Amino acid sequence: MIPGAFAYHRPTSIKDAVGLLAQFGDDGRALAGGHSLIPMMKLRLATPANLVDLAGIAELKGVRADGDEMVIGAMTTQHDLIASDLLSEKIPILRETSELIADPQVRYLGTLGGNVANGDPGNDMPAVMVCLNATYQVTGKSGERRIPARQFYHGAYFTALEPGDVLTAVRMPVPAAGHGYAYEKLKRKVGDYATAAAAVVLTLSGGKVANCSIGLTNVADTPLFAKDAADAVVGTGLDEAAVAEAVRRARGIANPSADGRGPVEFRTHIAGVMVRRALMRAKERAR
Ligand SMILES: Cc1cc2nc3c(=O)[nH]c(=O)nc-3n(C[C@H](O)[C@H](O)[C@H](O)COP(=O)(O)OP(=O)(O)OC[C@H]3O[C@@H](n4cnc5c(N)ncnc54)[C@H](O)[C@@H]3O)c2cc1C
Repeated sequence: MIPGAFAYHRPTSIKDAVGLLAQFGDDGRALAGGHSLIPMMKLRLATPANLVDLAGIAELKGVRADGDEMVIGAMTTQHDLIASDLLSEKIPILRETSELIADPQVRYLGTLGGNVANGDPGNDMPAVMVCLNATYQVTGKSGERRIPARQFYHGAYFTALEPGDVLTAVRMPVPAAGHGYAYEKLKRKVGDYATAAAAVVLTLSGGKVANCSIGLTNVADTPLFAKDAADAVVGTGLDEAAVAEAVRRARGIANPSADGRGPVEFRTHIAGVMVRRALMRAKERAR
């Protein structure tokens, strides 16, 4: 339970953080809230020789509007997301999801950037980012680039990040006013990762679904963008047949592992239950 020895670095600019991480290569890791990385270091599943703490970089924090997008600094904590009235007004699924992550102690330190950069299929925010069609802003040795969340996750703990990269912000389009949303998560107890979870954002027009997007958590090696499931309800009034078809299609792409949260069949079944619940609650909330 004691991590291996490491050197600690605390840069105060993105440029310096990228410089340090590029210099250390595979021997360096960015440190954000530490609530995924430090437990892995204690288990010796991660043994970085150098930790580059991002906490001293003021420009990585905060929430702001930029035209039709919200921009959230990577070091913005899950607690900050819950506390932001601007975010709760514009993209309320972020508060709902944050409140289902761990417990207040973890949320005071755990960051949005760490949650999405980690690559753990159990993390809740990646599926929400996939659902919202978010983009990750990354600065590396060759400058800045933007990576769509839907292309970022390559496998468990494998992402589009290269050694030396710092994820600086997450950008997401603000869904239409009056949209419905829900993040439904089944967990064994408070503070647990999802057995399965579903994020839904939709808009209604004349009682019919005009747009719908669905993301799934912890039912594959990566978050899943359930496009076919969402397409099943577009143009419908979310009648039973349409919802059942969305559930069937979501289960069709789920590929969970058997673990302490249940066998494959159970977790696949629960993925569908979460989609059904999220669709129903999003419909109730849509105006
Ligand atoms: C008891 C407990 C329960 C939890 N339950 C949940 C849960 O239900 N749902 C959930 O989603 N999470 C859960 N977590 C994890 C928690 O949300 C973490 O805070 C989060 O996964 C990682 O964020 P962090 O800021 O702590 O990142 P860190 O642990 O500091 O970093 C995680 C990884 O991301 C990399 N990284 C971090 N920031 C950046 C960046 N800006 N640029 C590039 N790389 C970066 C790090 O190098 C590291 O590899 C739980 C944690 C604990 C301890």
